[in-house]
Amino acid sequence: MKQFIYADNAATTKLDKVAFEAMLPWLTEEYGNASQPYSFARNPKKALSKARETIAACINAQPEEIFFTSGGTESDNWAIKGCALLNLDKKATITSAIEHHAVLLACSSIERMGYPVAHVNPDRTGIVSAETLERIITDDTNLVSIMLANNEIGSIEPIEELAAVAHSHGALFHTDAVQAVGHIPIDVHKLGVDMLSASAHKFNGPKGIGFLYIKKGAKIGALIDGGAQEKGIRAGTENVAAIVGMATALEQNCKDLDENQMHIETLESKVLDGLSGLDFIRNGSQRHLPGNVSLSFRHASGEAILHRLDLNGICISTGAACDSVNTQVSHVIRAIGVPDEYALGTIRISLGKDNTEEEIEHIIDALKNCVNRT
Ligand code: PLP
Repeated sequence: MKQFIYADNAATTKLDKVAFEAMLPWLTEEYGNASQPYSFARNPKKALSKARETIAACINAQPEEIFFTSGGTESDNWAIKGCALLNLDKKATITSAIEHHAVLLACSSIERMGYPVAHVNPDRTGIVSAETLERIITDDTNLVSIMLANNEIGSIEPIEELAAVAHSHGALFHTDAVQAVGHIPIDVHKLGVDMLSASAHKFNGPKGIGFLYIKKGAKIGALIDGGAQEKGIRAGTENVAAIVGMATALEQNCKDLDENQMHIETLESKVLDGLSGLDFIRNGSQRHLPGNVSLSFRHASGEAILHRLDLNGICISTGAACDSVNTQVSHVIRAIGVPDEYALGTIRISLGKDNTEEEIEHIIDALKNCVNRT
């Protein structure tokens, strides 16, 4: 019988059963619009408050600093375009060369409207240093947006130091923490960020829901106009079921964080041990997301590996999920300077809490078979 092994948890994760069950009443009996004044809206309204409190507690924020969005893409777009909306002097935005396209293309969009944008380069391991940022930042910088952890190679950026540099020049600091929330400890105060993006489907919550943390006092314009939801800066009837699912999944992941991390790191070592002897480069920094294993095989095709593993019932990725139709080397692999003879042979295995040791053995066997054949 053909097995099914899911090892693409950076693309999306399985919805937790507890989150699914917590969502059900809000999809069936409790369907009231949380913005209405009558008593049938009281429970949905309470559920939203509770979800906001739960999420805030998981990242050491205040509930009123959590704003619900439709996911990571919207949160990133909102942070960047929302800051531009209030940036009447058209001061500069700085981002990194290895951001997700939600950030990179939002920056291109404001650039076309006349806002200057500069890109800071990472080192060979995908780390953007405070010194590199210091070299290009000026007192005319309005916003710095650098991701907390990279989706393709897992590198965890020195956000505390980067945010301190931004603030010393009077700029706001946003971080795309979509890959990190629910997987590593997050404390917005320790990080010193003004805004932080997250997406529920990356931490075993439902798809199409996320949040943007906006620090009290940080000013950001509305991206979506309409009703008065989310303090009037993010309009649209709240998806109560999805919001409750997101909060439940995040709470569960944060409760199990150490245990999950240990399990995933054991599996990660097993993958690397099992592949030793093959000619590949492991991409990313020493400090990286648990289970994010980016490998570049010499003179191989990442795409061919992906399809051969797929025939064996194994899901992995060649890089970012959004890039899977694109056979070019990804912008991240280019930016960190993976040598040409390895770059096209890049794959990303991203392990999650549900993966097992037995699955890792299958992945290793299948990978050894196809790398020998590419
Ligand atoms: N930012 C990062 C780092 C991501 O990995 C992703 C999704 O892959 C996004 C943003 C977009 O998030 P969403 O799928 O919730 O729109």
